[in-house]
Amino acid sequence: MSDLFFRSAYCAASVASLTNIMTSKLFDGTAEWIARCQNWEGGIGGVPGLEAHGGYTFCGFAALVILQRVQLLDLKSLLRWVSCRQMRFEGGFQGRCNKLVDGCYSFWQGGLLPLIHRALHAEGTTAISLTNWMFDQQALQGYILLCCQCPNGGLLDKPGKSRDFYHTCYCLSGLSIAQHFGSGDILHEVIIGVPENRLKPTHPVYNIGPDKVAQAIMHFMQKDVPEMPNSRKN
Ligand SMILES: [Zn+2]
Repeated sequence: MSDLFFRSAYCAASVASLTNIMTSKLFDGTAEWIARCQNWEGGIGGVPGLEAHGGYTFCGFAALVILQRVQLLDLKSLLRWVSCRQMRFEGGFQGRCNKLVDGCYSFWQGGLLPLIHRALHAEGTTAISLTNWMFDQQALQGYILLCCQCPNGGLLDKPGKSRDFYHTCYCLSGLSIAQHFGSGDILHEVIIGVPENRLKPTHPVYNIGPDKVAQAIMHFMQKDVPEMPNSRKN
């Protein structure tokens, strides 16, 4: 097992849940492994005992959301870890303790807050906001808009770095998370700058449009879960 496991588990859980091929055997032991990787900091490391990291924490926690096993984690220590990764001077997120802010963690860390918010709400925690995620949404938008945009298009890690498709994707995904709050029927937008800065909402578990998630689920719900080869009776 390695850090690759988190990306693979998240990708497998995403695809399986969207295409209605989830079986109990497919993810046997996955949730327990992820929970073992939550360390003393509160975030999730690549293997048990390793330093917590934003990418693994998002992939591990989003996989647990899909598997409906978030109760295996200490949610409050996870919340404390991720909210402390937003830096007060830059407004962006760092990926690990004592590292520099990086635009791509706008999604890997910022995207954790909607997931934690909903998990705490489902647990019955009442002391959570009905208008904002538990991070400074304006400050994150400021970092992305002012520090991560290239004049010629594309977004980047931090000023001085080169633009690339990876950072363009995750800066924009994080910007969308920072612009749109949603809890149950309550939707609340916070748009920094001109109205043209507004992005469409993105689904915090799958990072695609919520309408596309609904379409995929509706489509594959009409089909039977395929039989696993080793579960055939003859
Ligand atoms: Zn990055």
